[in-house]
Amino acid sequence: MSDIIVVGAGLAGLCAARTLQRAGRRVRVLEKTGHLGGRVWTRQHHGYTMDAGFLGMFTAYPAAQRQLDYGALKLVPLLPSAVLRQEGGRAEIVGDPRRDLGALPGDLTAQALTLRDRLLAGKLVAELLTQAPHVWLNGPSQPTREFLLEYGFSPRSLERFFTPFFGGLVLDRALMTCSGLFKYYFSLLVRGDVAIPAGGMSEIPRQLAQELEVQRETVVSRIDAREEGVTVHTDQGSLQAGTVIVATDPPTAARLLGEGHAPARPIDRGSLGSTYLHYGVDRRLERQPRLRLNALPDGHLNQVFWTGQVFPGRVPAGHDLLIASLWGIPDGTDTDLDTRTRAELRVWLGDRVNQLNLLHVERIRHTQYPQPAGYARTLPGQAGSHPRLYLASEVTSLSGIQGALESGEKAAAAILGDVQVLSRPRGA
Ligand SMILES: Cc1cc2nc3c(=O)[nH]c(=O)nc-3n(C[C@H](O)[C@H](O)[C@H](O)COP(=O)(O)OP(=O)(O)OC[C@H]3O[C@@H](n4cnc5c(N)ncnc54)[C@H](O)[C@@H]3O)c2cc1C
Repeated sequence: MSDIIVVGAGLAGLCAARTLQRAGRRVRVLEKTGHLGGRVWTRQHHGYTMDAGFLGMFTAYPAAQRQLDYGALKLVPLLPSAVLRQEGGRAEIVGDPRRDLGALPGDLTAQALTLRDRLLAGKLVAELLTQAPHVWLNGPSQPTREFLLEYGFSPRSLERFFTPFFGGLVLDRALMTCSGLFKYYFSLLVRGDVAIPAGGMSEIPRQLAQELEVQRETVVSRIDAREEGVTVHTDQGSLQAGTVIVATDPPTAARLLGEGHAPARPIDRGSLGSTYLHYGVDRRLERQPRLRLNALPDGHLNQVFWTGQVFPGRVPAGHDLLIASLWGIPDGTDTDLDTRTRAELRVWLGDRVNQLNLLHVERIRHTQYPQPAGYARTLPGQAGSHPRLYLASEVTSLSGIQGALESGEKAAAAILGDVQVLSRPRGA
């Protein structure tokens, strides 16, 4: 019998398990799939190294700084700028010219932001630098759209810059997401990079799992907690433990723990999905190392990124890999999505779209959970429905790598009675 069973080998579960094991507890991790990392994973496909979807890590995430060895991950920063696609296919580069000089000419002429918007952006950055990012996260909350308009930003900048930039990140085209989260992410961007390990995002869970025993391809179907111990029912049989941490995706955690014990603090808060089309090409079609964002309100493309230009080791020699992410999970077959995506990419690539070879279409039902204004008031804590049960999941904090790692730290701290860690504010 293990002291502790952790259900789910995502970042939250791995972080909790490693912390407990280092504190001398006997820990076993059970994972439904054949891979580590949950939503953060990488696979090989026809010689290409592809992350699931498209994601990056903010190097200024405090929990990532505590938990990860950045040097060993060989992090490659993305350029702190983006190419915005405007009407008629016009491309505007917007970014931080202090760190990407190449963005400067485009940045000065970009019509997405008026001169007043640029001055306000400078004022906002200066203001955000006066406090640690988590202070903004836990500060007043209103819809981001409302906050930006009250701050004085033009409606045009909301549509042409903030929606593709921030809405694309939190999968919310209406910008109704909590303004504290907007300020938090903006603060992190000013303080660090968005980076990806050279070998792919799965280097992150691999590093966390180095010392752990993870039993893969084991689906937990039910958990029975009693005073004397916990029985975990899986498709491979039943296991006993003193304590169980549920570290699955939120909808599954809600089922395993039962929502009934704290209905005012729901674990399942809904799901925002996203879709990714991965295209291979056997030659470089253009040079564009920046992330492309779609600023057209009716387009179905969200972001576009040429992976091979920034990560040459992840594509066969001379090849490139384009990832096109779509808003939500549109109806239609793979062929329908491919046709629509190529039609939108044609504005940028012209007839070169015909050279794109569709490798894979990926629909991810739970990419993040919605985080509207005030959402943090009802977040669940680490306590489960029984004193022997705990929750480790992004859903206790914020939907992202910081939230997952932080929740793993806190679930372990709750078991170890580490009040210092438990007292850390959300996002710190
Ligand atoms: C496409 C995409 C892009 C993203 N972009 C970013 C980004 O740029 N920056 C950022 O910070 N965050 C991003 N995120 C969010 C981030 O990946 C998540 O917030 C984080 O990984 C959540 O970790 P978790 O451990 O809480 O949950 P999960 O990663 O969902 O892990 C849960 C684990 O539990 C396992 N499991 C589920 N059910 C069972 C069961 N019954 N039995 C056993 N095991 C089970 C699952 O297989 C999984 O391994 C993105 C997510 C996606 C999908």
